[in-house]
Amino acid sequence: MTVGSMESAQLFDAGSKGRGLRATKELNAGDVVFAEPSFSAVVFDSLAMQVCHSCFRRQPKLHRCAQCRFAYYCDRTCQTACWDEHKQECAAIKKIGKAPNEHVRLAARVIWRIHKNTGLASDSQLISVDKLEDHVADMSEEDLKRLKADVNSFMEYWSYGSKQHSADYISHIFGIIKCNGFTLSDQRGLQAVGVGLFPNLCLVNHDCWPNCTVILNHGNQSALSSALHSKRRIELRALEKIGEGQELTVSYVDFLNLSADRQKKLKEHFYFDCSCQHCSQHIKDDLMMAAADSKPSADKVKEVTAFSKECLEKIETSRIEGDYQEVAKLCQEALAKQENVLADTHLYRLRVLSVSSEVLSYLRSFSEAAECARKMVEGYMKLYHPNNAQLGMAIMKAGVTQWHAGQIEAGHGMICKAYSILMVTHGPNHSITRDLETIRTQTELELKMFKQNETVYQTMREAALKPPAESKA
Ligand SMILES: [Zn+2]
Ligand SMILES: [Zn+2]
Ligand SMILES: [Zn+2]
Repeated sequence: MTVGSMESAQLFDAGSKGRGLRATKELNAGDVVFAEPSFSAVVFDSLAMQVCHSCFRRQPKLHRCAQCRFAYYCDRTCQTACWDEHKQECAAIKKIGKAPNEHVRLAARVIWRIHKNTGLASDSQLISVDKLEDHVADMSEEDLKRLKADVNSFMEYWSYGSKQHSADYISHIFGIIKCNGFTLSDQRGLQAVGVGLFPNLCLVNHDCWPNCTVILNHGNQSALSSALHSKRRIELRALEKIGEGQELTVSYVDFLNLSADRQKKLKEHFYFDCSCQHCSQHIKDDLMMAAADSKPSADKVKEVTAFSKECLEKIETSRIEGDYQEVAKLCQEALAKQENVLADTHLYRLRVLSVSSEVLSYLRSFSEAAECARKMVEGYMKLYHPNNAQLGMAIMKAGVTQWHAGQIEAGHGMICKAYSILMVTHGPNHSITRDLETIRTQTELELKMFKQNETVYQTMREAALKPPAESKA
């Protein structure tokens, strides 16, 4: 079964979960279990003109492929690096006059690559791509309808000499992509920009409380010669000490959902019933629905919960419409109602706090934003695994907001805390960690100034924050 090998992990039979990966030696928090370049990846349709099709960075000025007029690149270097992947796609798009959707583009890239490398891209790849699970048999009517449309679109698009494939084989590849595709984010980790297939990663089973995390590293593109560029790749990183022989797991869903909701999502998207310890024992569900310590009546809790749910829907609508003043108003209303009724770990409270801190930062009400971010992070810390990547990112944002609000001591503390989590989840060479290190150096310096002379520090800060038109010389 095993076709390649890895140093720290191996395939094993994980019982009812099917295949799985386990550690072949003891691992510590922050260890890279393995790194893997994508077998194939594509940029989302909606961002095709804003994200480089080679390195997946968001860039303001991209250059278009003169042949197909569809692919965009940072520069010649990125274009050259990607040509092997794009060559056949380029000809196919030119032939039919337009690019098909992202699923079809990815399926074609996968099959072109299978032809070229017989499904194996490296010695450490443990499984041939077309041997992955497709779950086509478990798909809903709706899913199958979409699948059929994609297969038809694929047939029109596909060209590889005279080589043709049966509709069943193509459906199989689409199925693999649907339940194994990994969402790629931009270089700051803020926006999902594409989807890719990483065969070894597909073998890592899910657990809502995993011992590993997966992170996309965009590689180092700073060298002048493209031959020296490291390729975009994912890294599977250990979140805690893992013993030899222990199964390696990642989470496919955000932990901040009730166990029943996580199970529902996993069933819908990945076609399995999660029986992880946190789901079967409903661990932390009570905290995510808890009432405040002041013991409000059950009726009051019910009323505020219903109000919050409705309010979150209104908030979402206003956010989509871009009415941020309205979003801020609705958040304030919800938070006031929730006070002393819902616990600080209640999911509805945390969701309002998250939107609120984001919108208030945007509206430059930094002090209020920092207060919301602080409360949110306190709740998160009681719920998330201490090395959860989302927790690290949330603490980083909260720290930056506090810094902007002039709370230099608290802000620097948060930034240091975030840095220690990101060192585990992202590692020292990731661009997000490096950006955070720059910020940390700055806040450390400012904190020193603050401790030496508070008045001088505040004056300097006020001058720096003032809009240019109002500032006096
Ligand atoms: Zn690029
Ligand atoms: Zn092209
Ligand atoms: Zn679970």
